[in-house]
Amino acid sequence: MEISEKAKSIAPSVTLEVSAKANALKAEGASIIAFTAGEPDFNTPKYIVDAAKRAMDEGKTKYTATPGIVELKRAIAEKFERENGLTYSENQIVVSDGAKSSLYHAFAAILNEGDEVIVPSPYWVTYVEQIKMSGGVAVVVKTDEKSGYKLIKSQLERAITPKTKCLLLNSPCNPTGVVYGEEELKEIAYTCEKHGLYIVSDEVYEKLVFDGKKHVSIASVSDYAKQNTIVVNGVSKTYAMTGWRIGYLAAPLNVAKAISAMQGHTTSNACTVSQYAALAAISDEEGKQFIEFMTSEFDERRKILASLLEKEGIEFVYPDGAFYVFMKVDGYFGKSYDGNAIRGSVDFCNLLLSEGVAAVPGAAFGADGFVRLAYTVSKEDEREGVKRISAFLKKLV
Ligand code: PMP
Ligand code: GLU
Repeated sequence: MEISEKAKSIAPSVTLEVSAKANALKAEGASIIAFTAGEPDFNTPKYIVDAAKRAMDEGKTKYTATPGIVELKRAIAEKFERENGLTYSENQIVVSDGAKSSLYHAFAAILNEGDEVIVPSPYWVTYVEQIKMSGGVAVVVKTDEKSGYKLIKSQLERAITPKTKCLLLNSPCNPTGVVYGEEELKEIAYTCEKHGLYIVSDEVYEKLVFDGKKHVSIASVSDYAKQNTIVVNGVSKTYAMTGWRIGYLAAPLNVAKAISAMQGHTTSNACTVSQYAALAAISDEEGKQFIEFMTSEFDERRKILASLLEKEGIEFVYPDGAFYVFMKVDGYFGKSYDGNAIRGSVDFCNLLLSEGVAAVPGAAFGADGFVRLAYTVSKEDEREGVKRISAFLKKLV
């Protein structure tokens, strides 16, 4: 059987593949410090699990309306109002199988064949493939140290062509941990307005911001931005609920309706039991305490990992958010480990595995000079992991 041209053009998710590989090695008994998983290593809080159990006991096990149960959509709309200063009616909210699914439906709803989407790099691996799957063309704009790995107005202006439909923005960013400030977002929003661009804003790491920084949704910085942005968020990272598969988006009414119509033919409603769990997660006061606890734990780990790397003289992008450290490795290219040449981040990660450390190659994020370390591991593992990275680097010739 021959697969379609479209399917041929889609690469598998490197983040998921590398995590699976690390887990398989661990299951075989290998000692691996896995800095791979882009998911909190905490269990879902009990009050959320209890809400799911109650929902099952009450027989909430049937299909729901495609865009989600009204109570959850209402709770999400209230969350946007309370925390982001954004007013949406519940009909503008669509609940999906994870933010990944929300993003896919967002692109599918606004892109025509050949439409260009500007994607600042380093970017999360899935955007480019989803844009392709939706018939669009990802136009990657490389950001660098000079701008703190943020997209700036002049770069955005230069990337715009008559075919540009949309900008993808991800703040806090996976893999760099960069967080955009309000003024920076205003500049970007103004440039989008000048050129009539839409914005897809992925805000799944919204709660994971440190050092007193504040997450701002680009949709909240101007009327134009509000009317032309699809805001994507979810419960995976915020409430340690990656396996429950609940994401959501807010969009102009006609877009939300189109997304709901499409979703009615792809996945239907997101898992009913998980929707009730997400409702408890978002509405219950206990959620705030959990977020506080998790954020302060990640903050401690972030500082520990950063200082350990600094001590070893390893360069990285200092993260303000999310739970990743993006480590610079291009200085080691051209060297070899145990007779094996390091030509790029994929070689680097493959060989690093021999020293018992799993990490995701920057090539997956459009930045081959880097490697991503997720500090979704214990502090002890952080220390042991950096020890092993240091031993690895010392063996390079
Ligand atoms: N966006 C970013 C930047 C992510 O890192 C992830 C993690 N998988 C997602 C979206 C999707 O999250 P989920 O589908 O679990 O809600
Ligand atoms: N987003 C996480 C990561 O970047 C989870 C894996 C995935 O969904 O791609 O590792």
